[in-house]
Amino acid sequence: MKMEPVLVLLHTEADGALAKAALEVLAAAVAGRAPVDVGLVGSVVQPAADRVAGCGARRFLAVEGEEFAQPRYATDAAAAEALARASGAPLIFAPASSRWMRVLPGVAHRLGGCADTHVTSLSRQDGKPVITRWYYRQRMEAALERAARPWVILLESGCYEAWSGAPGTARLERLPVTAAPRTRVEGVQAPQSGQQTIRPDAALLFVAGAGWTKNQADGKPHVAEAEKLILEFLDRTQCSLGSSKSLVDLSGEGQAVLGFLSHLNQVGQTGSTPRHPKGLATCCHGEEPHVVGWRFVTERRAVNLDANCGWARGKADVVYVADAFAVMAKLNELLRS
Ligand SMILES: Cc1cc2nc3c(=O)[nH]c(=O)nc-3n(C[C@H](O)[C@H](O)[C@H](O)COP(=O)(O)OP(=O)(O)OC[C@H]3O[C@@H](n4cnc5c(N)ncnc54)[C@H](O)[C@@H]3O)c2cc1C
Repeated sequence: MKMEPVLVLLHTEADGALAKAALEVLAAAVAGRAPVDVGLVGSVVQPAADRVAGCGARRFLAVEGEEFAQPRYATDAAAAEALARASGAPLIFAPASSRWMRVLPGVAHRLGGCADTHVTSLSRQDGKPVITRWYYRQRMEAALERAARPWVILLESGCYEAWSGAPGTARLERLPVTAAPRTRVEGVQAPQSGQQTIRPDAALLFVAGAGWTKNQADGKPHVAEAEKLILEFLDRTQCSLGSSKSLVDLSGEGQAVLGFLSHLNQVGQTGSTPRHPKGLATCCHGEEPHVVGWRFVTERRAVNLDANCGWARGKADVVYVADAFAVMAKLNELLRS
């Protein structure tokens, strides 16, 4: 059966490069052995195109210009629509970045097609594309086919190895797109990089639980020391910071908590489901509503004083029955040397 061609739709980041998630989608597309077009959006996209020049794509299409540097519905939708029409591929793969998640379902509608978000795998059965995605807070996985085309598929990050071939020189086909945005971006206010603790591309997820704020062996809490230990570890390893619900909820109850945590850090049934390859839980009991958020974390370790904690009941690969304050102090000491 003839394989349906694929358009891989990518946008550049603020520095002009492609994010890891973009390279993951490209890898997933070229692995399918169907003809692939690459469509790029950004201020200047030649360096990004050169980075993936060796991927075997038959065309490199581009919409570039200052007005396409910033994420904005009107300009991004116009660019994506033009790229989709120029390629004509019935399948459109894109990373599930916040920028594309906001725009591509609308673009699919403009093209008379359909879109699926939060997709975790792409495969072919008898030549027909099949996607998988999770439902009911990652408890059920469904495999889906669709007859509608174009089919826009937004792939979650962390599901494929990033494409890593040799760079080259890509021959760009630039499409003229005039978009008349009603909004102008005057600047960006974002946390300083040191304050940004959620790092989806990090190799390690470090989870802090409520135990960090509980009374310790001397009968007193040591929240300031906990903050210091965790922040130093984050700074030295550049890992991503997750939390249990109990810890992030404590601030709402007026208790002393770790000031750098918010509900965005919460991992679990009513929080996030991150995809870091490794996870280390500290002072966290490992209850099911929390651990369900670890579904995609493959190598799991936990530090807990309680040898009977949830992690020890088949939820972690390794449990260190130890005082997390002592363990983290030692780890930081080793990282310093
Ligand atoms: C509908 C529903 C949805 C929920 N959704 C979520 C969710 O999305 N995410 C989530 O996290 N929870 C969720 N929960 C709550 C969940 O059930 C647990 O209550 C929560 O995860 C417990 O958090 P914790 O393990 O940090 O705290 P605790 O249960 O208080 O555990 C603290 C742990 O720290 C250990 N400890 C203390 N001091 C030290 C030390 N010095 N060294 C090492 N270990 C130490 C203790 O032994 C203990 O095991 C949900 C609950 C419900 C009912």
